[in-house]
Amino acid sequence: MLRAMEQRCLYDYNLLELTELLRGWGEPAFRARQLYRQLYVNLTASTEQMTDLPAALRARLAEMPLSTLRLERVQIGDEGLTRKALFRLPDGAVVETVLMVYPDRSTVCVSTQAGCGMGCVFCATGQLGLLRNLSSGEIVAQAIWASQELRAMGAAGPAGRVSNLVFMGMGEPFANYDRWWQAVERLHDPQGFHLGARSMTVSTVGLVKGIERLAAEKLPINLAISLHAPDDTLRSELMPVNRRYPIAELMAATRRYVEQTRRRVSFEYVLLQGKNDHPHQAIALARLLRREAPRGPMLFHVNLIPWNPVPGTPLSRSEWQRVTAFQQILTDYRIPCTVRVERGVEIAAACGQLAGQQGVVVQPS
Ligand code: SAH
Ligand code: SF4
Repeated sequence: MLRAMEQRCLYDYNLLELTELLRGWGEPAFRARQLYRQLYVNLTASTEQMTDLPAALRARLAEMPLSTLRLERVQIGDEGLTRKALFRLPDGAVVETVLMVYPDRSTVCVSTQAGCGMGCVFCATGQLGLLRNLSSGEIVAQAIWASQELRAMGAAGPAGRVSNLVFMGMGEPFANYDRWWQAVERLHDPQGFHLGARSMTVSTVGLVKGIERLAAEKLPINLAISLHAPDDTLRSELMPVNRRYPIAELMAATRRYVEQTRRRVSFEYVLLQGKNDHPHQAIALARLLRREAPRGPMLFHVNLIPWNPVPGTPLSRSEWQRVTAFQQILTDYRIPCTVRVERGVEIAAACGQLAGQQGVVVQPS
């Protein structure tokens, strides 16, 4: 594992911490508020451009990096409406961020770790292993990049700013909970980036402790749970984490979460041809959810995701007619269910394709 980040950047600080930092330099509190505004509202790309700050302070700030993410390249797909950024970190690791522009909104998909230690067999990031956790500033700075990119594109109306943020990039957010949550709070801060809690969604592989912690948090962000199989044998084969937290435990934690928060959760289910997309598996999933899932009207929802190819794996994407047949069975069981339309497949920017290169090659075992 690479050495954890040591160099703090300005995006690692919340307003209180910036105030402390500047106080130590003999600056009044309002200077910290000015700086914070420059970072999160004006999205100013360098401290030299923060001309409302005195030159001496700017010079001092310039000794510290604004962000430790170095943009290496941006790939463009879907006729300019999907953009994937590849960032290099000071220790050489890479992370990716995806911006998706729709007519009525703009969504950014953010990474929380470089690589991932969870080893799901269908996921390109999983093949990398865990390189390291991202700092809160490295998570926050990805959303800042997306906002700057939207501004540079001249995007207008509701899509002109980041309106939705999903923690569905590289990494498992709950395996980096503290830093990830600091990033959530900072992005939510009404004095700064001001993104509504309900506009953020975290996706987890199913770490029960993280689900429990999230249930106790004050900000009502949305929760998505990667399920991907209706039984423990198959889930453990696809997602090694299932050996630690089998389905019954995961469902119990989800039920407690919904009881505590009264918020709806979504279950994600990636469709893999001949693996987990058979009609009998749709029936088993429907029965599992009817039996185990949170009760009450519409307190859960299933998101079917046609698998995005990861080169080198022996898996394949379900044909469309199998996807619709699977969805029909869930609908017949009155399970609320949608099929996610993917963006950015041709630039390897879709869910599960982020690996810092054009796909990773996995050695068959
Ligand atoms: N680690 C978290 C969040 C990042 S992955 C998690 O696993 O939930 C975001 C979503 O993409 C998860 O539901 C994941 O299972 C799914 N995913 C992974 N690889 C994929 C692929 N190749 N095609 C489609 N979805 C994939
Ligand atoms: Fe990690 Fe999520 Fe990929 Fe699994 S699907 S390896 S948890 S990023």
